[in-house]
Amino acid sequence: MTDENSEKLRRIVLKVSGEGFCPEDERGISMNSVNHLAQQIADVVKQGIQVAVVMGGGNILRGAQFKAANSSIQESTAHYMGMLATVINGLALQDAIESLGQPTRLMSALPMETVAEPYIRRRASRHLEKGRVVIIAGGTGSPFVTTDTAAAQRALELDADILLKATKVDGIYSADPIKDPNAILYKTLTYNEMRQQNLRVMDSEAIAKCAEHNMPIMVFNFRKENNLMKAACGEHVGTLVSR
Ligand code: UDP
Repeated sequence: MTDENSEKLRRIVLKVSGEGFCPEDERGISMNSVNHLAQQIADVVKQGIQVAVVMGGGNILRGAQFKAANSSIQESTAHYMGMLATVINGLALQDAIESLGQPTRLMSALPMETVAEPYIRRRASRHLEKGRVVIIAGGTGSPFVTTDTAAAQRALELDADILLKATKVDGIYSADPIKDPNAILYKTLTYNEMRQQNLRVMDSEAIAKCAEHNMPIMVFNFRKENNLMKAACGEHVGTLVSR
């Protein structure tokens, strides 16, 4: 599976956006999409790789939707609603992975003890060592950021080898590849290039955190068969962002 120069990773943090939970241009949860993701994750864990999944929630709700001045929902309230959406996704992914016989733990940064363990770094690390998939929901637990920032934060504190960001396109492009047929796919980028070119694949706080601590980020297409396995086994799929 791995190419000559690749090396199997020990621990990965996988950021899955809400778009991974439903077909293109739809919202909500489609169990076909969730099951597909669950199978890929379970296959990676079988290789002895520790996997923590940071859940997005955009298939249900994003806080920024409620920015409009005439919205009766305060923006901060909407961000908490977005964080709750990640718990809903986490519950779906948990059952899908466990139906494949792979143990998991759902942890949440928002206290929610009847459905998820509180996120405690040392406990998360222990679950990973025991071969459980740790599904991390509730974002950072604070409003006004996205789950990309949560993913960067968790990748750093859990001492992951890499932050894998699963997207519906093949990596980072010079322009939106869906709108611009001349967009160029980058194989590698530095954190600075990403910031200078204002490539909006992740939020700036997430990039800043990774840059400061030299956490590599791989942005790849999770819908392509075996891509997650390849990335987890150290193969270069998509765009690698590093120093
Ligand atoms: N969110 C938040 N704090 C966090 C993480 C997420 O307030 O630490 C809210 C924010 O409103 C965000 C929503 O939860 O829009 C859903 O997360 P996100 O947009 O990152 O989901 P994705 O785009 O990855 O599906």
